[in-house]
Parts: sequence; C-alpha cells; structure tokens
Amino acid sequence: MYTVLSCIVVDHNPFLVVLAAAICVAGIWVSFRLFQRARDTHGAMRAGWLFLNGMAAGSSIWCTHFVAMLAFKTQAAVFFSPTLAILSLFLAIVGTGAGFALASSGLFRLAPEAGGMLIGASVAAMHYLGMLGYRVDGLVHWNQNYVVASVVAGVALGALSLNRSMRPVTIWCRYGAKVSMVLAIVALHFTGMAAMMITPLRPVFAPAEDQTWALALAVGGVGLMVMGMGIVTALIDHRTRTVADEDLQRIAEIDPLTGLGNRLQFSRRLEEGCIWADSNDTRLCLVLVNIDDFKVLNDLRGQTAGDAFLEALGVRVNALLEDGELAMRIGGDEFAILRRLKADEPVDAFLSRLEAMFRRPLKASGSQLACSAGMGVAIYPDHGLSPSDLLANAGMALARAKADAVEHTQFCDGVMDQEERRRRGLSQALRGAVERGEFSLFFQPQMDIPARTLSGAEALIRWTHPEHGPVSPAVFIPIAEENGQIVAIGDWVLEQACRLAVTWAEPVRVAVNLSAVQLRQENLVARVAEILETTGLDPARLELEVTETSIMADLGKSLTLLHEIRALGVSVALDDFGTGYSALASLRAFPFDKIKLDRGFVADLDGSEESRAIIHSVLMLGRSLGTPVLAEGVENEAQLAFLTGAGCETIQGFLFSPPVPAGELARQIQSGNAFAHSGTQRHLRLVGKELAVAG
Ligand code: C2E
Ligand code: CA
Ligand code: CA
Repeated sequence: MYTVLSCIVVDHNPFLVVLAAAICVAGIWVSFRLFQRARDTHGAMRAGWLFLNGMAAGSSIWCTHFVAMLAFKTQAAVFFSPTLAILSLFLAIVGTGAGFALASSGLFRLAPEAGGMLIGASVAAMHYLGMLGYRVDGLVHWNQNYVVASVVAGVALGALSLNRSMRPVTIWCRYGAKVSMVLAIVALHFTGMAAMMITPLRPVFAPAEDQTWALALAVGGVGLMVMGMGIVTALIDHRTRTVADEDLQRIAEIDPLTGLGNRLQFSRRLEEGCIWADSNDTRLCLVLVNIDDFKVLNDLRGQTAGDAFLEALGVRVNALLEDGELAMRIGGDEFAILRRLKADEPVDAFLSRLEAMFRRPLKASGSQLACSAGMGVAIYPDHGLSPSDLLANAGMALARAKADAVEHTQFCDGVMDQEERRRRGLSQALRGAVERGEFSLFFQPQMDIPARTLSGAEALIRWTHPEHGPVSPAVFIPIAEENGQIVAIGDWVLEQACRLAVTWAEPVRVAVNLSAVQLRQENLVARVAEILETTGLDPARLELEVTETSIMADLGKSLTLLHEIRALGVSVALDDFGTGYSALASLRAFPFDKIKLDRGFVADLDGSEESRAIIHSVLMLGRSLGTPVLAEGVENEAQLAFLTGAGCETIQGFLFSPPVPAGELARQIQSGNAFAHSGTQRHLRLVGKELAVAG
C-alpha cells in the first residue's frame, strides 16, 4: 500500500495525475448516463446506446491510463509502440462495451456483477497491453504480487460498481457505482505501476517534458471530445424525448373523431380558465351541450353513421369558434364550450352562435340529419366558485334543459339546482339505507264503519335520514323509483309488514303499497310467495295496493302479474283512484278487491260540487261492480258524515288515526279486541277517536 501511495506521490507528475483523474471522473459520469439510457431502451436502440456507452467508457479509461502513464517519472528514456497503444484502446472500448452489455442483458441472475468483472478484467488487459508497448531504455522488473493485486482490485471494484448501478440503490450509495468504477481504474493503474521497477541503463538528464505534455494534452483532448460527443448525444436525446412527451400529451388530449379536445383537456382548460378569470377580474362562460337522440341515430343507422355525424359536427364547431373560445367533446354525445368573457360582456350572441352549431340539420355521409341539443349554461364566478362547482351547476342546468320540452337552453338557477342537488344528495343517502336500518314501518288503520271494526291497516314506510331526520315517503319514494332502489326497499317493506302482521292479536288485513318499478320486477310473484311462506302469514290477510298509472304503463303484463298475485290468495286494491286518466279502463281490465278513492276528492268535498258528484258516481260504480270502496284522507266529521251518507263503508284518515308505529298498532289491536267482542260502539276508540256514527 505504501509503495502504491509513494508511487503516486513521488514517481508521478502531480499535474498530469490531476488531468488523468479529471478525465476519469468525467468519463465515468458520462458512461453511466449512457448506460442508464441503454437500460431504458430495447433492441437496436439499446445496442446503439451500448455502443456509445462502450466508446465513452473505453476511450476515457484508456485516456486516463495513457495520461497517467505519461505522468510517470522515470530516469530512463521512454518510447511507445503505436500499434500496441491503439490495440489497447480497442481492447478497452470492446471490453467495457461488452461488460456493460452483459450487465444489462438479464441473461442470468448475477449478470450485473459478471459484467462489472468483465469491465475490470478488460481495463486490466488494456493496462498491461499498453505497458507491453511502453519501451524503456533500462531493465524492467515486475513484482508479481502487485500485478495480481491490481487485477483483483480492478475486477472486484468493477463488479461492485455494476452491482451498485443495477441493484436497488440506497441514499447512502447514490454515487456508489461511479465511485467504485473510478476506484477500480485508479487502484488498477497505480497498483500496476507500483508493480513495475525500472533500472535505467543510461541516465537521461533532461527527460522530454515538452513532448510528454503535448502528448498528454492531445490524448486528454481526444478523450474529452469523445466524452463531449456522448454528452451532446444524451442531451439531444433528452430534448427529443421531452418534445415527444409533449406531443404525446397533446395527442392524449384530442378526440380523434372530431379533432376537438377531450375530457382530459376540458378539465385542464376549465381550471386554467377559472384562474385566468380570477387574475383578470373577469368571467368565464361554460356551456354543456348534450345532443338529442344521439343513441337513436346510432341504433337506427349504425355506429358508422353516428361517427360521421360527430365528425361533421366537429368540423362545423371548429369553423364557428372565435378567439377565446374552446370546444371539447367530453362524452359520447356531450360537448363543453368555454368562452373567456370580457368584464360585462353579455352572452346572448355567443349562445345564438352555439345554437347555430348544435341546432341546425347536418350533412353527414351523404344524408341530411336532424340535429338538436340541450344546453346548460353556468358562468364563473357567478354560478360557482370552483371549477367543480361550476361544472356541477352547468350539469344541473343541462339536465333541466333536456327535461324541458320548450326551453332547450337553461341557465344555472340557484333555487332549482339546489332542489336538484338535494334530490341527488337523498339519492346518494338512500344507498344502503335498508342495511343500515334507517327505515321503519308505520301502520294506518282502516275502519269498517257499519261493522265498527278495524278492517285493515296500511303499511307506510318511514325513513330517518342520519343528518336530516325524517324524510317523507312522498319525497324519497319517487327518488328510489328513479334510481332503482325501490326494489330493495319494497322488498323490505313487504317482508317487514308480513312479519309484523303475523304477531297481531287479531287477523287484521295488512295493505302494502307496490311501486310501478316493482311491478316490472321479474320475480315479484315468486318473492311474494316466498315471503308469505317464510313469515307464515295467511295470504288472505295480505292486500297489495297498485295505482292506475303503474298498471297502465304496461297493461298486458300488469294484468298477468295481478292474476298471478290473486292466484296466491292475495287481494289487490286500486290505490289513488281517480287521479289517473283512464279510471274506467283499469276497472274494466281487472276485478280489484278494493277501490281506494283518492284523498284529493275527500279534501275537496266541502267546496267542490264536482268532487261530491264524483264520489257519488265512484260509489255507485263500486256497487255495480261488487267492489268495496275505501275513502282515503278523512280528516273531519263532516267528511265522514257525507261519505257514510253516500254509502261508503270503509274509511282511512287522520280522523281515526294518523299512521302509527308498528308497536302502537299491535297494542291497539290487542286492547281494542276486548271492546270488539263486547259488541258496543266503544271498540272504535281503539284508534283514539270517538266515532259518532249514526246507528
Ligand atoms: P298513499 O299510498 O296514498 O298513502 C297514504 C298517504 O296519505 C300517507 O302518507 C298518509 O300518511 C296520508 N294520509 C292518511 N290519512 C290522511 C289524512 O287524513 N289527510 C291527509 N292529508 N293525508 C293522510 P305518507 O305516509 O306520507 O305516504 C305518502 C305516499 O308515499 C303514499 O301515498 C305512497 O304512495 C308512498 N308510500 C308510502 N309508503 C310506501 C311503501 O312502503 N312503498 C311504496 N311503494 N310507496 C309508499
Ligand atoms: Ca297506498
Ligand atoms: Ca292512496
């Protein structure tokens, strides 16, 4: 070790040693950058990068070696064999190139280390081949131990270097690969030089300093040029890749069909637009457009026609856009247009231009196609203080535009959209409400006036929203019908109602409401049968309520279904009678077990002669069909008196009882029972109301 150190310090020209070290460090740095690029690529590209990698590493190592050799001070005259010098350069380039290639080949598990060893070995081979061409005018003696030590150091450090380069790198050895490679070269060279002992034959008094410097600088210069080429190549490559990435990014944001931006671009542009409006203290107009009946076009004329339509639309939109406007296709048949507005600029002209874009017939693939669309408009920051709020509000306005038969362009409207947001919030909250146990069942008694008994009870669902508290079924049932959750909810009601009814002390009939959506459910009848079976409820005690509107939606199917339900022994009531359009048609189509006169008629009794007439005729109709009529919504004595006078026998309403919790109804049935058997009028107190019925 001491010999090696003294060899560096004493036997070498320090300036040339520094030059050699600089070439070495720079060369290794460039080589590893090129190696990294080689590893990132495949096939011919990788071969190309490995070639550059071998050139840079081999030539810089060779230059390091050559300059360091020139730095070696000897008292004997020195000559170089040009052939061996050039051979050793080739050996270095080919050997290190092959080492890097092997290391990155993935041929076997230890390929990186084997590649590093090959690099170390070829550096050693280059060194000693070069030394063969180093002719001195003296006796040369080689110390075998140093020779062996130099080769071992080169090979081992080479292996360590590639190990650090390719195995996971920790923060402690970020530069491990480069440092090990520099050490491999330095250790090999100087240990190798320490192995050589020269005894001059004739002393040289003036060693050719100038020549040595000139040669060293020439070699170093060439080495640096090779490395420079490597660096420039890597830089050009980096720039090309950046440009390619930007191109890819641009392509990724374009809708190929229309040539407009896509949803990705829209998100970016919307955000940029809001920032622009903020910083310029102006506004941004967002218009969401949804093409009408695009699906119909696709279904009727095929996807190719649909594509041609969109393509033609894209051309038209592109042609009609003005400065500061951007159009993007953000969904199959949905577009978004952004316009940067000046301070108080009105949007009427802009919107009329959009109508010209989206509401004029279009020529596509040779035929004239109708084009119309709904538009939802929201302006930043008036209608939303963030891109996402603005988008949500424009979406809400669009939904209104699509639903409105006349006004196809709708502006964001705080109040209406708040209502819509509430609906969406409830729709979200309904998900999983059955599982979370947020529902309960109430029951409203139905009274048989002449018999003075409780003839039945209608099951009415109650929902306690975790934040808003109780929500009326009149509000959430339509939402559940819209989002399909009514199926699970209806199933729960049916099962729960039957389960509870079984526990009642008297065999009172239980009425359950069926939604139109449930009527379209394939397995409804099987499900009813199953519930009756599992709960053990007598089918004769179950009554299902359907509305006219729901059976009229698909009369044929509904009738089959109602007959199947009837076949189970379950009865069927016609709910809300009189509110549909085809009251008589539904009554003729199916022999209902009960007609429930809508509470609207009862409520109008006092003021409306017409309501009184309708009630009379419905009761007559019921009698002629042999179907009992129940009047809903009876709130006062006057209504009751009129109804009983007109011959109505069953009644449901607040006058007797509002819907009550299941437990309370069960208690009332239990206690009311005693009165019922006593045969007095008092049993009607069971629902908490004194009943003043004549007779
Ligand atoms: P509906 O089937 O016509 O139910 C009767 C509604 O009238 C109940 O409202 C009841 O509280 C109310 N009502 C009863 N007596 C009176 C009265 O004297 N005056 C007035 N003004 N109203 C009275 P509720 O419970 O809010 O239910 C509203 C609607 O929600 C129901 O109308 C029904 O269409 C639906 N619904 C309730 N529960 C269910 C269910 O479990 N499944 C389905 N599909 N729909 C249900
Ligand atoms: Ca009902
Ligand atoms: Ca009703």
